[in-house]
Amino acid sequence: MTAAADAARQILTRLHDVMASRTHAQGKLDSVADIIGEALDSEVCSIYLLREGMLELFATRGLNKEAVHVTRMAIGEGLTGTLVANGETLNLAEARAHPDFQYRPETGEDKFHSFAGVPIVYRERAVGALNVQHVEPRRYEDVEIEALQTTAMVLSELIANAELIDEEVVGKSELQTGQITVDGLALVNGIAAGHAVYHQPRVQIDQIVAEDTELERQRVYRAFDKMRDQIDGLSQQAEFGKGGEHEEVLETYKMFAYDEGWSRRINEAIDSGLTAEAAIERVQQRTRMRMREIDDPLLQDRMHDLEDLANRLLRIVSGQLGTAATQGLRRDTILIAKNLGPAELLEYDKRRLKGVVLEEGSLTSHVVIVARAMGVPVLGRVRGLRGIVGEGDEILLDCNDACATIRPTPQVADAFDTRFAKSKERQAALAELREVEPFTRCGTRIQVQMNAGLRDDLANLALVGADGIGLFRTEFQFLVSATLPQRERQLRLYKDVLDAAGGKPVVFRTVDIGGDKAVPYLASGENLTEENPAMGWRALRLALEREGLLKVQARALLEACAGKELRVMFPMVSEPWEFDAAKAIFENQAAFLHQQKKQLPDVVHYGAMLEVPALADALDILIPKVSFISIGTNDLTQFLFAADRANPKLAARYDWLSPAILRFLRRVVQSTIGHPVDLGVCGEMGGRKLEALALMGLGIRRFSITPVSVGPIKELVRQIDLKEIEQAMNELLLTPPHSIRDALTAWAAERGIDTE
Ligand code: PEP
Ligand code: MG
Repeated sequence: MTAAADAARQILTRLHDVMASRTHAQGKLDSVADIIGEALDSEVCSIYLLREGMLELFATRGLNKEAVHVTRMAIGEGLTGTLVANGETLNLAEARAHPDFQYRPETGEDKFHSFAGVPIVYRERAVGALNVQHVEPRRYEDVEIEALQTTAMVLSELIANAELIDEEVVGKSELQTGQITVDGLALVNGIAAGHAVYHQPRVQIDQIVAEDTELERQRVYRAFDKMRDQIDGLSQQAEFGKGGEHEEVLETYKMFAYDEGWSRRINEAIDSGLTAEAAIERVQQRTRMRMREIDDPLLQDRMHDLEDLANRLLRIVSGQLGTAATQGLRRDTILIAKNLGPAELLEYDKRRLKGVVLEEGSLTSHVVIVARAMGVPVLGRVRGLRGIVGEGDEILLDCNDACATIRPTPQVADAFDTRFAKSKERQAALAELREVEPFTRCGTRIQVQMNAGLRDDLANLALVGADGIGLFRTEFQFLVSATLPQRERQLRLYKDVLDAAGGKPVVFRTVDIGGDKAVPYLASGENLTEENPAMGWRALRLALEREGLLKVQARALLEACAGKELRVMFPMVSEPWEFDAAKAIFENQAAFLHQQKKQLPDVVHYGAMLEVPALADALDILIPKVSFISIGTNDLTQFLFAADRANPKLAARYDWLSPAILRFLRRVVQSTIGHPVDLGVCGEMGGRKLEALALMGLGIRRFSITPVSVGPIKELVRQIDLKEIEQAMNELLLTPPHSIRDALTAWAAERGIDTE
């Protein structure tokens, strides 16, 4: 054990004895001030705690005793108020030289020059401060600061147990950093107000001082092992992409997970008498402090990764493994996460989840598609959330403006309420369009269908007045199940969907798993090693090889549609023969059912998704075989631009309104002219007004979009004249301006067409 660890251990043992004693809280605080004062050979040691929103001197060794419970200061006032406001340690050789220095005559502190203070933190809030002062001007050594920080941890436990925490203040999330507005990328539009809930809550550390150091060492050792296994596992599972846990991030994680220095420092902290949890937190505090001093954005980014990893380690060591979804969610949850998988999001109670803020995320990742289907606004690409948002902080999420305000002032909250009410009014106005059929000004009926995938989505059909379901993502049932859904379960769901649709068409897409839609029970050795999962063994490719899977689904769909029409669509068709193979599986199942004297659908319409660019050049072969084609712009654009749809770094890089995409789509439309094939768009692109306007200009007449977009797109349809927009698109694509988006926005504005 190092001398420093030995000294720290002695302090901790003495503190432990004080904590365990039967003395009242004030007596304990006095003793702590004495112990620290003595241990650091310090003339002054003082403890300030928050009471009624003010920092009050609760105990001191060295300052005038009469000042105890008399000296009070606001947060942000003087050195103590400043370090509490910023949640940061101060280490000053000459206190007076600091711009925030304030002299309090009643304390008698005029003779002291040096000052070191650390915040006492409870549930991520600074609730007090522990300070030392010396007559000599000197900067405190690292070991001394660490002793103070460890003591501050012990103090937070003491004051929580003694109910000295000012719940008023902590509960209200009183400013630690005050109101702050952050910008991001609006992944799902909408606005919401609520309180921050971390998807992976920060672990509450209940015990700081260890009873048995050897045991703590073993606990942390085992936790490191487990964490390293998890990280290695994650990199092997890269085929499911996890929506942004890319190789680079994983490499960093690995580097930290195996970093000898990190585990050594944690072990040293354990040697000094801390529990495993407290030791991890202690080391993390120290790293945070160091990193703050280094003003390098790249390193700051790495710090976020380390924070994430430290939290993972804490969760493993403390056994607090669940996510917020399973822990009594508050009614107005704004979920905070680095990233989420679609299945993880689906675990949340939709009624309580008001919004999501992610550090990563991209417009077409499946988690975002799920959120859109749930009608939950999502703001993505907000860096360093852990450092800005505390658990329970009030958040005003405005994804229409791509920003969020954290801990709003009352004035800002009032203004937001007005906007919120306006947005509700607008939703009500859109709801009135429910019964209105979307005819263009020139009299063409545009089909506005909706995308769905969950039983819950069905209610939306009547609510938004869509023309049916143009894409039912059957894999969502697979994603939310712990085991492979059996035929009966599938059959029940499909029947319910048809019943809810009440005669409106429903297009069932066969399972599209793989990519960022991970289903652990289907993982096999074959797909664990994929380097490019989105381009790998997924969707129809997987289904054709796992024939049993597709057979079961075919049976379930055929039976569910007995006596009705079945519309079935295959995802990721790359070559026409794949369509033939999938159709043959359905026909074989139909023949089998026929043999069994089971009733079959009156008619089966087979369709394909066009989302692999290669298929566009084989349309002359495919078209005679299919009843309909649906363009999946999410995958199609990722393949056209060779840009991973789930990679947050690329999220804002390419525009759907780029000449390449629009020209490509125009070619597809032209290939279908004169053929009895129904062409539509079912990617996220179709749900955005400006994009939908462009698509109509290219000749698209059927959209299947997220339910919340149905109203706005109907509204748009009623404002346009197809000839006009077709001509405009022809001109724009002939000699594309620098930004088609800007040009089209201006074009629409001139005609009073609302594209917001
Ligand atoms: C698409 O790729 O555009 C699509 C609709 O399918 P998914 O988003 O489910 O991959
Ligand atoms: Mg797709």
